[in-house]
Amino acid sequence: MIKLKNVSKFYYSKGVIASGFVKVNLEFSLGEFIAITGESGSGKSTLLNVIGGLDSYEEGEMYVESLETSHYMAKDWEKYRREYIGNIYQNFNLINSYTVYQNVELVLTLNGVKKKDRKAKVLELLKEVDLLKFKRTKVSKLSGGQKQRVAIARALAKDTPIILADEPTGNLDKQAALSVIKLLSKIAKNKLVIIVTHNYEQVEPYVTRKITMHDGKVLEDKKIKEYQEVTNYQKASLKSINFIDKIKLGFRNTFNIVPKFILLFLVYAFITVSLMTEYSAFRKEEYEASKNGYNYIFTNTDDKRIIINKKDRSSFSDEEIAKLKRQENVDYVLENDFLTDQYFNIVNENRSLWINGKTSSLELFKGKVDKGRLPSSSNEIIIMGDKDDYYLGKNYEELLNMTFYMADERGEANKSDTLKVVGIKYLEEDVHDDYTIYLSKEILQKLLFETHKQYSNITVDFMAKYHQVSDEVNDFKLVTNTKVPKGEVYVSDDLKYLCPKEYCLYCTLNISVKNIYFTSSKDLTITKTYNKDNIDKVLDIANYNKDNFSDYNGILYVNNDDYRELFDKGIFQMSVFADDYKNVPKLLSYLNKHNYRTISLKDTLVQDGSIQLVKILKTIITSVLVIVMFFISYFVIRIILKSRNSYFSIIRMLGGNKKVTKELLIIELFIVSNIAYFIFVIIALLQRLSILNIAFIETVNRYFLIKDYLILYLIITGMSYFISLRYAKKLFKESVMSTYREVE
Ligand code: ADP
Ligand code: MG
Repeated sequence: MIKLKNVSKFYYSKGVIASGFVKVNLEFSLGEFIAITGESGSGKSTLLNVIGGLDSYEEGEMYVESLETSHYMAKDWEKYRREYIGNIYQNFNLINSYTVYQNVELVLTLNGVKKKDRKAKVLELLKEVDLLKFKRTKVSKLSGGQKQRVAIARALAKDTPIILADEPTGNLDKQAALSVIKLLSKIAKNKLVIIVTHNYEQVEPYVTRKITMHDGKVLEDKKIKEYQEVTNYQKASLKSINFIDKIKLGFRNTFNIVPKFILLFLVYAFITVSLMTEYSAFRKEEYEASKNGYNYIFTNTDDKRIIINKKDRSSFSDEEIAKLKRQENVDYVLENDFLTDQYFNIVNENRSLWINGKTSSLELFKGKVDKGRLPSSSNEIIIMGDKDDYYLGKNYEELLNMTFYMADERGEANKSDTLKVVGIKYLEEDVHDDYTIYLSKEILQKLLFETHKQYSNITVDFMAKYHQVSDEVNDFKLVTNTKVPKGEVYVSDDLKYLCPKEYCLYCTLNISVKNIYFTSSKDLTITKTYNKDNIDKVLDIANYNKDNFSDYNGILYVNNDDYRELFDKGIFQMSVFADDYKNVPKLLSYLNKHNYRTISLKDTLVQDGSIQLVKILKTIITSVLVIVMFFISYFVIRIILKSRNSYFSIIRMLGGNKKVTKELLIIELFIVSNIAYFIFVIIALLQRLSILNIAFIETVNRYFLIKDYLILYLIITGMSYFISLRYAKKLFKESVMSTYREVE
């Protein structure tokens, strides 16, 4: 079966050559039960390891079934070991965290035997070594003799022709040793069994041959007993471990040693938490930075705001507005949203105080005022602002007693209506914002028409000639006045040069308004003219000063209702506010599908570059963190897995190759990292359902998108994958024997 011809084994270490054994000539057959004996250091173990294909030889030739082996590569030796050799060791080399059954089964699993075939085989073997009743016992709980019998059962499982045992009884008491030797002699009936022993007397009654080694040479080779040579034997047909079994084994290894699992779990939990924290902190920064942009047209840059109009530019019907208000994810709908982008100016009588604030509607005012009261008439307003503000804060009473007028952006008062500040609301502690002025519907309406005026082209068709209405000095201006009856218009005497025979009364002029949404027009009859001397009486203008008449010249005074009818053509543009900025995309897609044109304010902001900076920083810091985490966790995991070296060497001794070992490692770390990751996902979910309340998870929930969870998952599993590869690589730098020695 095996033949050694002038075989020598040398060890090279640190430049010194030591010989394991020199020029050994031996031949072994199936059916023999051979004892190798000799003093310590004589080369017994080395010889056994060469026969077993665990160590190489440097000289001579070893034949396996008459075929040379000197050209064998690592792969060939792997195959040889798998098909020919079963090993039994002095220190058993069992997996202590596995049960008796699992230890024996492992070798079958690794060699691709199907589950149901495995079971029958393992039970048969356990019966043979008389351990059936211990099949569910963890190996660590067995006595030495029992352990060695498990090892024998395991060596027999693969059905190899050769069993090699290096001092199998070295750690056993006399009684246990005897039962092991008897068992081996029984096995030797149809195999080749070679055992190394110090205690020859003990084995003498059973062996068929005795080989004595001395100083690396064979001193004596003596036949003790006749044996029945086995000529025809069935070589085991072996396969590789299948996929399902690999996964199952990986699972078992993950949870087998609880402290190891907990340590690995903690490492991955740490990685997950630190990446989540870091990443969500940046997401938050990114979000804050994205709010810092500005927009030249729409000054209300609320990120929840979506501006809509209809694709056909028609006005919104009441049903449409009501439906939008009821729509899911809509917080509120702002009709005539132009106003929210308008700053509203008020000045007091002597112009000593001029307040410029965001425009809002009293309908949107929520809660109570901090000073004063809620408005009760249409010219009463509320101002919201900083508590530290001079007038809003300490001197609020002064403010509440003043009379204000609506003013233009230069602070010039329009004294037609007086306004009273009746309520003051303070901003929250850490919020700093412009003033917000809450106005009644009536005031807003006026403001709206002013706004419309700015967006529209207004012309006057008078005596077959078009005149522009605008703020320019030489153009007409349009102003409402309560003295003017409906359908009529009061004009300046100066217009008479346009009229036939310089007589304008009862002439008709037509005012038309045109903008992107609508056109409207109105015929009005001139029923009165005014001049420098009578304007205050005709139009009831208070505080009129003759020197300022040029300010009034060119104005067409119309009735309020006429004016309103010119502009009040419906609502053409509104703003829809989402309940959460996260729902803006959802809402946008709904609106786009339903015949609306949309602008999401968040997308229109002109950014100041800070968001780019945050993004760059995020990428850099995340990358650095991932690399640092990788090395920290690699070293920690290496220390944790150090105790697993013996496991992986045993796997390889039992026929699991490099690939299998590496894959088992990958599966194990993959499982742990997934558990850590998904526990945090579940925690985040519980928080979202308000079952938990953890501050850091709250931030994660708020700023993490599905995409971010995915990225994090890839980083963590990718990391566990690369750690497995690195560790496996290190594991294989050392040969089977040296890894095994390290374990010893
Ligand atoms: P035995 O098993 O009979 O006690 P070994 O086979 O272990 O003896 O050792 C035989 C010789 O080989 C000894 O001289 C020993 O020092 C040497 N040897 C064994 N293993 C190594 C090794 N890994 N490196 C260097 N020398 C070794
Ligand atoms: Mg030895």
